[in-house]
Amino acid sequence: MEAGEVTGMYPMLSVEEALGRVLSAISPLPEERIPILEALGRVTSRDVKAAYDIPPHANSAMDGYAVRAADTCDATPERPVRLRVIGEVAAGYVPEVQVVPGTAVRIMTGAPIPAGADAVVRFEWTRKEGEHILVERAVPPGQDVRPAGEDVRAGELVIPAGTRLRPQELGMLASLGHGEVWVHRRPRVGILATGDELVGIGEPLAPGKIRNANSYSNYAQVLRYGGEPVLLGVARDREDDIAERLRAGLADGVDLLLVSGGVSVGDFDVVKRVLAAEGKIEFWRVRMKPGKPLAFGFLGMEGQQVPVIGMPGNPVSAMVSFEIFARPAILALQGARDLEPLSVIATFADAVPRKDGRRHYLRVQLEERDGELFAHLTGDQGSGILSSMVKADGLAIIPEDWDHVEPGAQVRVILLRP
Ligand code: AMP
Ligand code: MG
Repeated sequence: MEAGEVTGMYPMLSVEEALGRVLSAISPLPEERIPILEALGRVTSRDVKAAYDIPPHANSAMDGYAVRAADTCDATPERPVRLRVIGEVAAGYVPEVQVVPGTAVRIMTGAPIPAGADAVVRFEWTRKEGEHILVERAVPPGQDVRPAGEDVRAGELVIPAGTRLRPQELGMLASLGHGEVWVHRRPRVGILATGDELVGIGEPLAPGKIRNANSYSNYAQVLRYGGEPVLLGVARDREDDIAERLRAGLADGVDLLLVSGGVSVGDFDVVKRVLAAEGKIEFWRVRMKPGKPLAFGFLGMEGQQVPVIGMPGNPVSAMVSFEIFARPAILALQGARDLEPLSVIATFADAVPRKDGRRHYLRVQLEERDGELFAHLTGDQGSGILSSMVKADGLAIIPEDWDHVEPGAQVRVILLRP
């Protein structure tokens, strides 16, 4: 088949249309129960509700004396109120005494409030006098008391299904008494690089050759977004080699296939042919830069249809295409609710004199000056300039309908930091 024939059949899609079509082909993987210490970055498959209040009992927020607030209402440094200290309670113990009018219990931070008391007077607001204290300040009911359920109420939905677990959620799960958590299985993501020119890290850099970068950046991206990378090696620019390696991925049970290179209109753009011959091409080409010749389709064995994202081979294109399409796909396979990358609004500091009608993703460095966030281009924006990614804090999104960018323009920047 001529590459030109393939071209004609596929209209160029907007980023939204293309992403919508990728995501509509994806449903969350089955769930499994795992220890919370292994759950960082995993996505919950069930709602987590509190079985009890946190904290479970009212307790002191300060070191001081548990008192009846009413006893202190006339207290001043000049006319302190005298209370008899009838006991002491530390965190982790249950108070055995009851605070009655005219008495106080010495209490430590986190210790349960004794019966009868409704406030805590901090040490620094008191003076000691033998068995007694002199309270120099009036405190209202509730002063420095953390009520039961102040943090979480019994029955409350604390972590909804579809949450990507961060350290704070793991701490919360522990507070709730969960040593394990239900999460979606991690997607296994096959990674294939293509190109006759590619050599591996240890191989000699013979004339005409370059090193395979994409397998490594894509591998790390898969890990970062919770997938399990499966390297399928480097295929030569031949349909049989590409097809064989992709089939090996299918046999290995991958949930998603990522291919870089071989999807533009050059003579050797064989990935599209493999997809057309052995599976199905859903779309090809997206109105974006870098990353225009993106191909999306399916490969399958015995009714199992595995989505394939064919990304252009330039190292920046492969990484940017990954962030825009593979990242949300990997998160959706894990059942994540929020697929939006973290982004900020920044003031563009440079000029881009002319651009085409595609959405541009420019590599920028962020700098804060006088409370304003500025985005500076990281230099040459060619899609082969991997150092522009190395220097970048983020990708500035320049909308399709801007025909140039002036310094001072407000742009959204997708953050590339973890
Ligand atoms: P392609 O999309 O296959 O036409 O490749 C576009 C450009 O990216 C060419 O200059 C390739 O040599 C380069 N390229 C393709 N794959 C890789 C890779 N895995 N690592 C580094 N560069 C690559
Ligand atoms: Mg190639």
